[in-house]
Amino acid sequence: MDVLTGGNGNARVWIENHPTEGWAPGRVDSVGSNGLYVVVDDQGTKFEVAPENARQVDPNCLRGVDDLLSLGDFNEGALLHNVRSRYFNDNIYTGIGSPILISVNPFQNLPGLYTEAKQKFYRERSAAAGSGEDADVPPHLFSVAAAAYTAMLGDARNQSIIISGESGAGKTEATKRILTYFANLQRTAGATSEKTSIEEQVLRSNPILEAFGNAKTIRNDNSSRFGKFIDIEFGSSGKLTSAKISNYLLEKSRIVKQQPDERGYHAFYQLCAGGHSLSDIGPTLGLRSAYEHSYTAVCTEIDGVDDASMLEEAADCMDGLGFSKEEKNSVFQIVAAVLHLGDMQFEEGDDGSVLPDGALTDKICELLKVSKADFTTTFQHKTLEDPFTKKIIHMPQDPTSSSNTRHSMAKHLYSRLFDWLVWRINLSAAGKGGGGGRKENTKKIGILDIYGFEVFEWNSFEQLCINFANEKLQQHFNSHMFTLEQQLYNEEGISWSHIEWQDNKEIIDQLERKPLGLFCILDSECLMPNATDDTCLSKIHSSFKSSRVVYKTSRFKSTNFAVAHYAGEVVYNVISFLEKNTDKLHADITNLLKSSSMPITRTLFSDPRFAPDMQAQAAQSRPGAPPAKRGEPNQRAKQNVTVSVMFRQQLDQLVEDLNRTNPRYIRCIKPNGNKQAHEMDSLDVQRQLRCAGMLESIRIRRAGYPVRRPFKEFFNRFRLLCPHVSTGRSLDPDYKELCRRVLTDVEAKFQAQRQPVEAKSWQVGRSKVFLKEE
Ligand code: ATP
Ligand code: MG
Repeated sequence: MDVLTGGNGNARVWIENHPTEGWAPGRVDSVGSNGLYVVVDDQGTKFEVAPENARQVDPNCLRGVDDLLSLGDFNEGALLHNVRSRYFNDNIYTGIGSPILISVNPFQNLPGLYTEAKQKFYRERSAAAGSGEDADVPPHLFSVAAAAYTAMLGDARNQSIIISGESGAGKTEATKRILTYFANLQRTAGATSEKTSIEEQVLRSNPILEAFGNAKTIRNDNSSRFGKFIDIEFGSSGKLTSAKISNYLLEKSRIVKQQPDERGYHAFYQLCAGGHSLSDIGPTLGLRSAYEHSYTAVCTEIDGVDDASMLEEAADCMDGLGFSKEEKNSVFQIVAAVLHLGDMQFEEGDDGSVLPDGALTDKICELLKVSKADFTTTFQHKTLEDPFTKKIIHMPQDPTSSSNTRHSMAKHLYSRLFDWLVWRINLSAAGKGGGGGRKENTKKIGILDIYGFEVFEWNSFEQLCINFANEKLQQHFNSHMFTLEQQLYNEEGISWSHIEWQDNKEIIDQLERKPLGLFCILDSECLMPNATDDTCLSKIHSSFKSSRVVYKTSRFKSTNFAVAHYAGEVVYNVISFLEKNTDKLHADITNLLKSSSMPITRTLFSDPRFAPDMQAQAAQSRPGAPPAKRGEPNQRAKQNVTVSVMFRQQLDQLVEDLNRTNPRYIRCIKPNGNKQAHEMDSLDVQRQLRCAGMLESIRIRRAGYPVRRPFKEFFNRFRLLCPHVSTGRSLDPDYKELCRRVLTDVEAKFQAQRQPVEAKSWQVGRSKVFLKEE
């Protein structure tokens, strides 16, 4: 406390749990019986801080440093305040060592931030530094991209850039800037870029992906409703040679139903607004304005967005990527068919539902190129196998059942079309050689733009999958950060055998272990003939009786269970879990669409790459292959290809790929919920920094030696404590030895006063002193 009050009563300490700021720096005003009275900087309000919580403020973080690791002590207060003060000065990027960049969404276009001159600056500085990490430049997206590129050229390893953060935090914007940076490498290097160059192809993919995979939500007018990993490949000379996109878990429910103030996928509204002017097919789509179609009626416009011109851009990009006229038309015909499916109404008939609006049925059949008789039958009857006699029976469907069949058809058509688009874009972006027969000596940089940890009022199956993905990525992050710490200790000759640290392995294990992990229970319930969400929930509760990870919650409804994620507790509601996980498509629909005379529709329901229910049938067929015969059995019921199984397989593959790279992390932060520039909700930012695993990074560092200072700096700062240790007359004193003497001396003083000192509370490395916080 003496040190804190510093004799003049003006020392700066952190006020933790400040009601609006989270952590606020203040000046010690006086010492009370229970603690220190601290006045918040610039505010005049007084807080009492318990002596054990009174942590000194490193004055450097008050003005905001480029790299947080340059602070002598790296704690949550310093992190939050540093990021905050920089943000208000329009410095939206902050580094935490070389592998982490924090990016705060400015919600305004900051002039000069992404110019070609900036790109050139970072490219040249990084190249001059030679290794990816040494360029001493202000933190920026381009510094991360440049470092990855330089490291890739210098080092045999592939690189990755993992961009995460919650909805609206700026992940996709960051991804676009980084892609542009890579696409411009050749351009700024002096080479001319032709219209058909691979760089142009890479940039063209984005408007298409955004048209079909992004939607307006209450959080973000242009929210990506899927995750993506873009692998960019470079030849041995460093030239971009190809790109490959992998997509994860498109949100399907949005296709047929949206929350108030939200929209379905942009493509729907774009087609309603501008579809009529598409050459060849415009008039045949039969679309009206968006508010006249059931799937798009809720909310039709976005301020400042012209849907018709966005359609033009997406269509131009398809042309640029070499989509044939037939492919492009088919894509729009399928989207129009989905919109029309939403408008179907069913009436009760004598023998199953009837479809009264003949013109609508005609239009859908014309667009999807299927027979009207087959189409009508699909909604009238369901083909089932009698479990006892094994005979095929045709069960009449009532209007509710037909209506669900229709939604199911719409969801599968659209989401498979999205998968097809990604596949088709990849075909064009694969460079010469069509992606097959890999070229030798290529290296890759992968960019991951993936949904961050999500907690809503109502959390469903999608949130469970997304949050599980975040657990996996967090584990990858932790283990990388831990490895980096160990490397530093090795380089400094510090022994680290006594450093213990626990990660989120237990959480992951309880979610994915076999056979009684949460996902396995869910998957096996999907196979049970009479299972319901309720039976699933009781199995979850009985399997996790004494778990600290998955448990019953006393709060809220009886349909809930809670998971203690690394970033906090999330309460999930089990309603619709089984349906969403099974994502069942009745064989009748598969068979109907497989019979289409439009090649893409056929492909979507027969090629295992787009039709997961076809995975069991030999994967030899290629897109465009002849259709399977109508009436073929659907394999789905016999195997357990649930959404969760597929998603976890993709995730394992992703983590495996990432493990083979040298990763860098961009943690995007949304400063406020109002999409306003120069406004920050500190408590919310603190929460996001925690979700981004920043507390874990701090913990990893604290498990070892969080405070580290170069010898000279340490000695000059603490020599006062031991006046008899001096540099003498030496012009080149041995600071390392001096530090060791100061530390030994102080430790002896503590022991003489019988004050406990933790074993190995300090170590002297090769270039720095390492200290435990105490
Ligand atoms: P989601 O998870 O919903 O897809 P996201 O993290 O991808 O969200 P973005 O779409 O990248 O979020 O950003 C949301 C909006 O914030 C952008 O449309 C843009 O208006 C603004 N924005 C983000 N980053 C920047 C930036 N660097 N400069 C200016 N505006 C930005
Ligand atoms: Mg996005």
